[in-house]
Amino acid sequence: MKMENVLLKELILATHNQGKVHEFEVMLDGLVGKLSSALEHKLDEPEETETTFVGNALLKAHAAVKVTGLPCLADDSGLCVDGLDGAPGIYSARWAETDNGRDFNIAMQRIHDDLGGIDGTQRAYFMVVLALVYPDGAEEVFEGRVNGKLCWPMRGEQGHGYDPMFVADGYDISFAEMDVAKKNAISHRAVAVEKLKKYLSDNE
Ligand code: IMP
Repeated sequence: MKMENVLLKELILATHNQGKVHEFEVMLDGLVGKLSSALEHKLDEPEETETTFVGNALLKAHAAVKVTGLPCLADDSGLCVDGLDGAPGIYSARWAETDNGRDFNIAMQRIHDDLGGIDGTQRAYFMVVLALVYPDGAEEVFEGRVNGKLCWPMRGEQGHGYDPMFVADGYDISFAEMDVAKKNAISHRAVAVEKLKKYLSDNE
């Protein structure tokens, strides 16, 4: 690792999800000195009060910078359905909330019902925004998007969230039927992370 040349000697991932932290550790290997998580810094999860993915990702990154004084990376993502004017969008996780935790079957059923049914032609996309904020307040934003269609009934056991009802353009299996490594290579997150990696390596 070319530690002396990296743009970021230390980067905090402003997420409490250990799975995401591990994913980023693998993807950013060699591009940042040390990666640590919101959990390690005992950061609170701020309320997502903004109305856009960019707004919420920046809000989370700024909140983490305020506490740690170090560069912080946060993300915000969701599924946007054309026929529902982009819903659930930034509310994707919230549509799954129940008194007993998140249940994405309920959220997917709601999309189906709100559309008045799904015949495989309804357009949708997954979107993610990664926000990098520096201690002086400077911001960098990286967006990733993968376009596709909704399928019904839900299909597949892999992945998470809305994967069982989403078929990416160029494929005929849902994200939940796709090998996880394959999904991670073509997903909205992969597109945004490639932009972040390019930024980090261009600025080494
Ligand atoms: P966030 O943690 O506030 O960004 O919430 C993102 C939510 O969007 C997740 O809880 C999922 O419901 C949904 N989501 C984002 N990316 C994906 C994906 O790749 N597959 C399935 N659902 C996703």
